Amino acid sequence: MSDSYAVIGNPIGHTKSPLIHGLFAQETGQDLTYVVIEGPLEPAQAFAGTVRNFIAAGGKGMNVTAPFKLQAFAMADERSERATLAGAVNAMKFHHGRVIGENFDGVGLVRDIEVNLHQPMAGKRVLLLGAGGAVRGALLPFMAARPAQLVIANRHLDKATSLVEQLASGDSLTACGYAELESMGPFDLVVNATSASLTGQLPPVPQSVFSPHGTAYELAYGKGLTPFLRLARDAGVQGIADGVGMLVEQAAEAFTWWRGVRPETRAVIDRLTVPLN
Ligand code: NDP
Repeated sequence: MSDSYAVIGNPIGHTKSPLIHGLFAQETGQDLTYVVIEGPLEPAQAFAGTVRNFIAAGGKGMNVTAPFKLQAFAMADERSERATLAGAVNAMKFHHGRVIGENFDGVGLVRDIEVNLHQPMAGKRVLLLGAGGAVRGALLPFMAARPAQLVIANRHLDKATSLVEQLASGDSLTACGYAELESMGPFDLVVNATSASLTGQLPPVPQSVFSPHGTAYELAYGKGLTPFLRLARDAGVQGIADGVGMLVEQAAEAFTWWRGVRPETRAVIDRLTVPLN
């Protein structure tokens, strides 16, 4: 019998995960099935029950998407360091009835930027917009990439400040509000990790943060040129990208963790890419 995996979320109709993992399995010759589960929103403990039923039916692992990443974190018996800092789990592995929680969002994002887009972060000035789950997941992998400076800007400054305090990594990591960005000059990499683009909004970021030789990265994907990417393009930024590569790379990390074999991602990213124009 094939090993069985799933993605759980709600709503989940939009998910690309079955397509991505199906292509990975085909390419690596792995025998597995991958299904979509619409998780229950209420009562709160019903999520864990759904996961337990999947385990009882022989399930080996799950991807977790909104709004269940915190509940997946809460039910995990073991958690990686990056999942712990994120306070969120986006992939689970089931082993002898135990639930092991991981968070591959940040490592997938860094891999897309550094490997696929050829923009190493070491020694660079990097700006992260937002301080939600995606930024929490990204922080350890970003710090491991050794930027000269990493600034986190958020509307609610306290959220960004508390993240910086948790890491206590010295002067290279700082938090600020959007108004302070006006006087900070251009960054080599600006990452929009807010959810503003999901509703067609623009975070209040000044155009002066962009450098024509730098990169602007939008975590949302499949939306074409978002207001953030348009602002960057209008500022003359040559390198603009959306989060489709991150989506595929975090999936590849989970696949490698589950199956012990790393799939190729380029063809899958190309297949899912929506042109940015
Ligand atoms: P959260 O809900 O956890 O956090 C949202 C963040 O966006 C908060 O910091 C919030 O600021 C900020 N924000 C929301 N609206 C605005 C606005 N109009 N102006 C400025 N800031 C705003 O979301 P996530 O961190 O989970 O997700 C963020 C984005 O990343 C989403 O677009 C999501 O789709 C994308 N994503 C993409 C992935 C991929 O694989 N490509 C994976 C995971 C996420 P405040 O705290 O001040 O309210």
